[in-house]
Amino acid sequence: MARQSPSNAQCEECAAILREMADAWRVDSRQMSASAPDAHALRDEWLHADDDRFHELSQTYYTRTLQARRRKTEHEILTGHSVVMNGWRGFLPGRR
Ligand SMILES: [Zn+2]
Repeated sequence: MARQSPSNAQCEECAAILREMADAWRVDSRQMSASAPDAHALRDEWLHADDDRFHELSQTYYTRTLQARRRKTEHEILTGHSVVMNGWRGFLPGRR
């Protein structure tokens, strides 16, 4: 019988999803910087946005990140893992 543990530090798919999210974040951020007039403020707003605004901004500027996020959610629902707990914080660049 398989028992799900809240600690899933060894899950390779969690790690792969984290890498994908980090890559997507980098690519999307670069593209947003090129297209948005005030990219820094926009990124800050995105990080602290409520759900509606988050999706609005994501669909405009963070399509790759949104896709990776969707994959993360699916994996978490399927396995009971927490990809975020598994190290997403380590991937956030210089968050205050
Ligand atoms: Zn996992």
